[in-house]
Formats: sequence, C-alpha cells, structure tokens
Amino acid sequence: MQHPHSQPDIVEQVKLTLLKRVAWYCLGLHVLLLMVFWLLNITSLALLNIVSVIAWGAGIYLLNHEHRSLALRLFSIEVAIHAVSVCALLGMELGFQYYLWTVSCLLLLDNNMELKPAVAASTIMIILFAAMYIWFDDVTYNYAFANLLPYVHFTNVLVCGIPMIFTVSLIREVTMQQRQSLEQLAAKDPLTHMYNRRYALELITHAKYHCDENNETLCIVMADIDHFKQINDDYGHVQGDEVLKRVALMIEKYTRPVDICARWGGEEFLLVMPNCTPKTAMFRIEKLRSSITCEVFEHFDKHVTMSFGVALWPTSSNFDTVLQHADNALYSSKKNGRNQVTAASSLYEIPYSG
Ligand code: GH3
Ligand code: MG
Ligand code: MG
Repeated sequence: MQHPHSQPDIVEQVKLTLLKRVAWYCLGLHVLLLMVFWLLNITSLALLNIVSVIAWGAGIYLLNHEHRSLALRLFSIEVAIHAVSVCALLGMELGFQYYLWTVSCLLLLDNNMELKPAVAASTIMIILFAAMYIWFDDVTYNYAFANLLPYVHFTNVLVCGIPMIFTVSLIREVTMQQRQSLEQLAAKDPLTHMYNRRYALELITHAKYHCDENNETLCIVMADIDHFKQINDDYGHVQGDEVLKRVALMIEKYTRPVDICARWGGEEFLLVMPNCTPKTAMFRIEKLRSSITCEVFEHFDKHVTMSFGVALWPTSSNFDTVLQHADNALYSSKKNGRNQVTAASSLYEIPYSG
C-alpha cells in the first residue's frame, strides 16, 4: 500500500521542479532585459537588472539547497521592486505591472508561510498593481523604439499569463489526483483492494434500483474461506494475508466488471451479480470454487478451499433479508463438508437444474 505521506511529497516535488523551471526562465529574461536597457541607454534600469540577475541566480542556488521558502520570498521582492521601478521610469504602457499578478500567485505557493500572511502578501501585490495606475499615470515613455511598445506589452502579458495558467492547471491536476486517491482509500479495503462494506452498500443500493427498473434478476453470493484460522495457525498471519489477496484476485478474475465484489469481513466476501440469472450465478460461482481449489499456493502443502451461498434477490425483499438467506446457504455449505456452493432455500430458492 502507498504510504499516506507519499502523495503530498509528490506534490511538493512537482512544485519545486516547476519553480526551478520558472526561475531559470526569469533569469534568462532578466539577462535579456539588461541588454535591452543598456541598448536603450537607460542606465539605472540596466544596473537594476544586474541586481535582478544576481537575485534570480541566488534564488536558484537556494532552491537547489532546499530553501524554497526563502527563494520564493526573494523572487517576490525582486519582481515587485523590478515592476515598480520599470513602471515608474518608463510608464505603464510596457505592461511590466502584470508581473505583480504572477508574484501574487507565487506567494501563495509558499507552504512555509501560513495561509493568512500569504494571502495578505498576495493581496498587497494586487493593491500595488492597482495603485501603480494612479501613481504612474502621467509617466510617458521617452526612449527609442517607442513604436515597439504594444509588442513589449503583448509579450509581457504572455510572459506573465502563461506561467499562471501552467501553475493553476498543474495544481488542479494534482488536486484531482489527490481527490481520486482519497476516494479510493475510502472505498477500498487496503489489503485486497476490494470494495469495503460501507462503500459496497452504496453500490448495491444503486445496482438493486437499476435491476428493478429494468426487470433484471439480481443474485447475491456470500463466500467464506474454509478453515482460514487453521491457515493462519499453520503458516502465519502474513501468509494468511497472501491467501486473502490471491483469493480476491481470483474472485475478480471470475466475475464480470459489472459485479460488485466486496470484502465483507475478515475472510468473508460478498458478491452482487446484477442482470444474472440464478442458474448463471451458480455456474459462475462453481467455476470460481473449482479454480480456487486447483490453485497452487506457494509454501502450502494443502489446497485452499472456499464455501459459497447463493441467493436470488426478489424485487420485494430488502437487503438484510436476502443477505440472511445467502448466509444460511453458506452455512449449509459449511455444514455439509465445505468447499461447495449452495443455493438458498424457501422463497429464495433457485430454480437450478444441474
Ligand atoms: P470456517 O471454515 O468455518 O469458515 O472456519 P474459519 O477458520 O475460516 O473461520 P473462523 O471464523 O473460525 O476464523 C476466521 C479467521 O480469520 C480468524 C481471524 O484471525 C482470521 N482473519 C480475519 N481477518 C484476517 C486478516 O485480515 N488477515 C489474516 N491473516 N487473518 C484474518
Ligand atoms: Mg472461514
Ligand atoms: Mg468467517
């Protein structure tokens, strides 16, 4: 079984890889900006970009040395200072203010920061973004290549937007995976990977409703490993668990995907077979029984056998009643020498002919 902590660890690993990728991409971008500002003769911004490149380099170093939280804060400060400085000197038309949106997302990825401070820091970035439209409203661009401003703006929107889309979609993917595995954990027995009793009951209710609606017959089967206590006593609990796993695999092999197979108790299984006549149910279970008997279990000097009780579930009956009848049939199998399949009697009698 998967260790309960392994899933969050995978998430953290994915986030770190993503962050490193983004950091390298930002380092490259700042080298490019450094050259652009140098070319445009905007010395103050070119010098600021030298500091930025150093900051991104230092951040990557921190990431590689497991100081993710520190790196995230360094990146956030760098981006905020950079965005504000560029907008203050060159105006808002270049679109450097959008980096504050990206940094606001980045701050929320910092697991070492409590949610409230992270949300507060993130909100500050958004407020800063809005405030810059007021502060730098009258700043105009007075440098070369002014005709390129819309393209720079366009590029900045893309550069800021794409990592945000990438990050949010990745988080969505991981969240879905986690939800799925949590659902699996809640629905399945960890040893046999069969449905547990609680979850099976939900499926059974649904299957019964569906069969009644479509006038289909529904059969239920109680199955119990013979002398399982003896198996545990002779070969140990671990080998006993192996038998349970193998038996569960065989049950799954000899049933249809539409059948509901559940681990009902210790060495007891419940099978619900929708759209299956009693005759077919008996035939299938008999095949399962004989193949379990023939199965060779390593380290075992005798064969594992199983007893079964099969009952038809009439429309008018509730689950507890039909379960009782299947259980009685199983008891008959045990009483008559085990390793056999018995059909339920009375109202639940199965018109089985050979
Ligand atoms: P019968 O043929 O009448 O069914 O006899 P039995 O020995 O199979 O039945 P009994 O109810 O006396 O014993 C069932 C045993 O199953 C007792 C219990 O320790 C064991 N068991 C229950 N759950 C597990 C499990 O998860 N793993 C293992 N190894 N043993 C289990
Ligand atoms: Mg038993
Ligand atoms: Mg039992």
